[in-house]
Amino acid sequence: MSNPNRRPILAGNWKMHLTLAEGLALATEIRNRCGRFRQADVVLAPVSLALLSIVERLADSNVAVAAQNCHAAAKGAFTGEVSPVQLRDLGVRYVILGHSERRQFFGENDEGVGKKGRSTVDAGLIPILCVGESLAEREAGRTLEVVTRQLDGALALLLPEEVGGVVLAYEPVWAIGTGRTATPAQAQETHAAIRRRVASTHGEDAAKNVRIQYGGSVKPDNIAELMAEADIDGALVGGASLDADSFVNIVTRAVHASGLE
Ligand code: PEP
Repeated sequence: MSNPNRRPILAGNWKMHLTLAEGLALATEIRNRCGRFRQADVVLAPVSLALLSIVERLADSNVAVAAQNCHAAAKGAFTGEVSPVQLRDLGVRYVILGHSERRQFFGENDEGVGKKGRSTVDAGLIPILCVGESLAEREAGRTLEVVTRQLDGALALLLPEEVGGVVLAYEPVWAIGTGRTATPAQAQETHAAIRRRVASTHGEDAAKNVRIQYGGSVKPDNIAELMAEADIDGALVGGASLDADSFVNIVTRAVHASGLE
């Protein structure tokens, strides 16, 4: 079972889906149905245009809001970008950084993710730092090499005492949006390796406290077995977070599997 000292964290990444009205309706339903889960962190990441409205809708609830990306600078001449300071100002609490879609389609690299990680922590936000290998990398036996490189880049500019407060997300690229989930044993093996790496780069306390989500086709019927693993502290959910029943079931079963209900 996941370590009871680490609060489960379930986050829904809505990506570039939903109109404002649809997002508000979904956020409202999730808020109403997850209100009783004070033992876990529940987070929704809408498209940036909807952030303010969703923050307002979720005010005074136990559901927090994440951005899906941000710029590394606090402000400046960066047309089309959004800064971590501006996100914090809206009431956003988390930022997903280094998602594989950003790495694949928008040229994000390890060094850039590290800079963004630094500036989000400076702004008082909690980064959700994503790492994960492609299918070709896994088949070539390079999973740990790739994940370690991405992890080192993501944490490069953070102090040991800061790392315990961030969230990591292990998302094998071959499992994202494919319906193909890593087995709990495959996920646990990589999560444990990530935690060991954090211990060697940022110390035992950071490794003990940092929460590591699994992401990749998480559904109501596989969340419990994933959460049963010692180093899996939650999930970053894409497709299944767009449906209230699915996401609420994932949260419910994760809390239950963590022995917190
Ligand atoms: C994701 O995009 O982070 C993700 C895990 O997506 P899905 O749950 O749809 O595989």
